This record gives sequence, structure tokens and C-alpha cells, in this order.
Amino acid sequence: MIGADRVGVDPLTEYFDASMMSVSSLTDYNITKERYEAYLETPIKERELFEPFNGVVFADSGGFKFLNNAEIDGSDFEVTMNQETVYDIQKALGSDIIVNLDHPIAPGDSHQERVQKAEQTAENIHEFLNLTRDFEGAKYLTLHGYNYSMMTEFLEVITNEVPLGVLQEGFDGIALGSLVPKKDNRDALIKAVTDCREVMNDWGFENWPLHVLGIASRAIPILTALGADSFDSSTHLHNAINGKYNRSMMEQVPLDDVDFTECDCPICQSDLLVDRMRGNTEYQKDVLGPVAMHNLIVQKRELADLRQCIKQDGTDALIEYLEETFSRDKTMRQYAHKVVNQSLGGYF
Ligand SMILES: [Zn+2]
Repeated sequence: MIGADRVGVDPLTEYFDASMMSVSSLTDYNITKERYEAYLETPIKERELFEPFNGVVFADSGGFKFLNNAEIDGSDFEVTMNQETVYDIQKALGSDIIVNLDHPIAPGDSHQERVQKAEQTAENIHEFLNLTRDFEGAKYLTLHGYNYSMMTEFLEVITNEVPLGVLQEGFDGIALGSLVPKKDNRDALIKAVTDCREVMNDWGFENWPLHVLGIASRAIPILTALGADSFDSSTHLHNAINGKYNRSMMEQVPLDDVDFTECDCPICQSDLLVDRMRGNTEYQKDVLGPVAMHNLIVQKRELADLRQCIKQDGTDALIEYLEETFSRDKTMRQYAHKVVNQSLGGYF
């Protein structure tokens, strides 16, 4: 990966197989028009800095900025943010997976507000499909709702504008949004993902991948067991920023307490990077960068193990994984049991 040669580790390409970015991140820094244009001049993967990166770029539409009326604001760089602009940006970044511009719902929205947002999203979807006819990557349809009936109603509104057959033909996956305000509410997440898979079955999207937008790593094992295929968690970074080193997906320890010899990942096997993680370097980024990378590797390895358990015949392997993962975590354990009971036909 980037700079790998300078720190003497092999490129970590297998752990950087996909990365997520958002159109709205361009609007976060009060950048000027010149800066904005310069940024979009060269697709990400064609820039020298990212030259060895060959993974997938998933560009979110930034629709979550509409949440709580915090509109995406392109005024700093004199751009009107709408479906067309968002797609132009996604294209300019060299994205492989894109989503339509959406209007996520908020927990306090009235029924009328939710319907209105679905109608606005429907208009965008219509335009998105027209604009993206020649796009060669994958297109994910945003879906909003906390439960079966809300998601069904969302799709009913959408299909008033765009016929179901056109949706099925035009898109390749579902991106489930609006869950960020509920990210710490395990019950709500479990319900949303379980119901989403049901809705996908009932609307003819059963073979599509399901991406859950903005959910942190602690919920990942359970949501994966329920049928979510991808996530855009940044927990590995945030843990590192807070000086936390992941022992497993669920367990972190303070960086000062770590015995690096216990981990066999390429980061902890590097004398130079271990030395930096111990604080023997000038810049904080050189201490925390390797920690973030180690955290990501731990998460991705564990997720790969979990997927192996899911692929196996029968449910024994998955049950054993969930038992082991959550046995010392009382709060999560009850949800793990609930998942097993709901989706695997009962066990506890
Ligand atoms: Zn490690």
C-alpha cells in the first residue's frame, strides 16, 4: 500500500480491497472553487499518491447531509448540489460503485415528511438512471426505513415514479441508509437489516448485495449473520485516534498495554512499525497510522472467518462463532442469541 516500501512491509493490498468516500466530504472543508476543481481533475486511482491502490472505490452520494435539514452546500465552490452534480462528482472521482442522491429519514420525521422525502428521492432515482446509462460500475439503490412497512412504503413511492422492472434492471445492489442515528440501538439495527432482507426478497431484489451505510464495527458480526454484505465503518481509525488497539473485532486495549508479539499481522511483525506504535517517532500520525492498519486487519480477518462460518453447511459453526465472540459481552450476547433465534431457527 501507499508508502509500504518506505516502512519495509509488503503492500497490504488484500486489506485495502475497497474504500468508501462521500461526495459530501468535499463540502466539509470550506474549499474554494479552484481547490474543488483541482481535486476532481484526476480520478483517485490515477493519482500518483494512490498509484498502487487497485481496490474498489464506493462513492456515497452525501444524501445524509440532508438529514436534519443540513443541506449539502456547494456555494463555497459555486456549484448547485443536485443529482446531476453529485453524479458528475462520483464520475470524476473514478468510482466503481455509486448510489443515487437520497433524502434519508430522521427518527423524529412525521409520516408526511417521510413520504415527501421518498418522493424527492424518487425524482432523483429517475434522473440518476437517465444520467448513468453509460456508467460501467455498479449502482446501488438507496433504501430508507426502520422496518418492513416503512421500507415497503418507501418502495411504493419510488415505483410510482420509476416502474419496478426499471429499478430491477437499472440497479445492482441495495444501500440501506438512515440507520446512523440508531447505530447504538442494537434492536433497531437487527430489525432494520432482518426486515430489509425480507423486503428485498418480496420485491425481486433477493440476489442483490446489501450494503449498510455508516454502521460501526461492534454491530458488524451480527448484521453480517443477518445478511448484510458490506459496511463502511471507520471504527478502526477512530479506535486508533483514541489510542485503542484491537485484540479482536469486539475487544480493544489501550495502546500502552499491548504486547505486539501476540499479533501475527504484517504491521505487528514489522520492527519499525512496532517501534513507532510504542511512540518512538516524531509525529502522532506515525504512531496511530500503523495502529489503524492493525485494527483494520484484525476486523477484516475476523469478518472473513465469520463468512466462512456462514458458508458452512448447518448453523453450528456460526453459533459457535457468535457464542465465542459475545460470551463475555453481556449486552451483545442477548442480541446474538436473538439473531440466532430469529434467523437460524432457534437455539437458546
Ligand atoms: Zn497486528
